[in-house]
Amino acid sequence: MTPNENAMDRLESFRLETRGWLEANCPPAMRTPMPEDERCWGGRRPVYRNPDTRVWLDRMAAKGWTVPTWPREYGGGGLDRDEAAMLQAEMDALGCRQPLFGFGISMLGPVLLKYGTEDQKRRFLPPIARGEIRWCQGYSEPGAGSDLANLRTRADDQGDHYLVNGQKIWTSYAHLSDWIFCLVRTSNESKHGGISFLLFDMESPGVEARPIMLISGASVFCETFFTDLRVPKDQLVGDVNGGWTIAKELLQHERGMISRIGRAVGGAVPPVEKFALARLDDGSGRIGDPVLRDAVARHAMNDHAFALTLQRAGEEHAAGTANGGLSSMFKYYGTEQNKRKFELILKCAGLSGLGWEGAPFSAEELAACRTWLRSKGNSIEGGTSEIQLNVIAKRVLGLPD
Ligand SMILES: Cc1cc2nc3c(=O)[nH]c(=O)nc-3n(C[C@H](O)[C@H](O)[C@H](O)COP(=O)(O)OP(=O)(O)OC[C@H]3O[C@@H](n4cnc5c(N)ncnc54)[C@H](O)[C@@H]3O)c2cc1C
Repeated sequence: MTPNENAMDRLESFRLETRGWLEANCPPAMRTPMPEDERCWGGRRPVYRNPDTRVWLDRMAAKGWTVPTWPREYGGGGLDRDEAAMLQAEMDALGCRQPLFGFGISMLGPVLLKYGTEDQKRRFLPPIARGEIRWCQGYSEPGAGSDLANLRTRADDQGDHYLVNGQKIWTSYAHLSDWIFCLVRTSNESKHGGISFLLFDMESPGVEARPIMLISGASVFCETFFTDLRVPKDQLVGDVNGGWTIAKELLQHERGMISRIGRAVGGAVPPVEKFALARLDDGSGRIGDPVLRDAVARHAMNDHAFALTLQRAGEEHAAGTANGGLSSMFKYYGTEQNKRKFELILKCAGLSGLGWEGAPFSAEELAACRTWLRSKGNSIEGGTSEIQLNVIAKRVLGLPD
């Protein structure tokens, strides 16, 4: 047997074992499309509208499958890339919900694995994997969004701790989070070289989060204020004044996560083709309106091409040949594509797409309308589309500044 056949055999037995485990352990309620308010964020004050959400989280966390590729000693599943992809494919095939969401998993964890001390990894990673601590991101400030390195929140060295003063803005879920990863200024001598990466508890004296209401009716983010907040020095990640490198790397993880936003399986709004056919079927299994049929087909083809490109990039990444600007390309395309998806969904919904709450609108139509509004933020959060185009111009195409 060749090494390749050996690897395929091993992967096939992993697939069979995984399917068996998922069938036995994923509660039926966790195999249905997930309404937004049943999404599991974990944290110190978790809300489980469906009790099976907790059961599913605990079972997956015990396997390390909330973070399948993290090492086992930090709460992960220790899976390689192929196994992790296989696990996701099996979960998609059975319609299993993601057991846990959060910035700890998608953004902080990967950079802690690379830049954290051993103590920091052991202290912070396992609670993230188990969904015990919910994290928020303190990057943007008034006057420091696209030009992030312009940030002014200060952390002054006080011997055994830092004294933090300043303001963040657009801090997603700050009012619901337990801890924050935060960019602070520790030196004025250099714009980029005076920034540090600090972690602290949102319940510390001197932290205040004020929610901001959004057009979609939800309040996902806050203005966040720090006044004479004391942060122990062992909560600094990486070197003092070396936070910009970590900040940029975290943004790549964030952009990768946001670019896949329209690709999630099992959300409250189905894929465009399904949504359109359920309303516009001409009786022969196709969309009656030729203009919409054409638009839906084009969207589905672009979606498929994007999925294949993401897969190819994943393989290049594993082989060490990926371009560093890819996360910007995918963030740009994925978020613009998600906005187009919801424009198209609303067109297919017709008047039913105007529903805000209650009858006669279905849960799917209400979710479509609200998500359409929420999708407008996709091309702003994590860096705007214009900024991604600048990065692509410089880092991928090699154009001058
Ligand atoms: C839903 C949502 C969630 C968010 N969550 C968080 C969070 O959790 N934590 C956090 O720290 N931040 C968060 N943000 C903030 C987000 O990162 C910033 O909004 C974003 O980086 C843009 O910054 P800004 O709002 O200050 O806009 P600005 O930087 O003021 O930009 C305004 C406009 O000018 C354009 N522009 C600016 N500079 C250039 C340039 N050089 N070239 C071309 N065009 C340019 C921009 O593209 C944009 O259209 C969130 C934002 C949204 C919408």
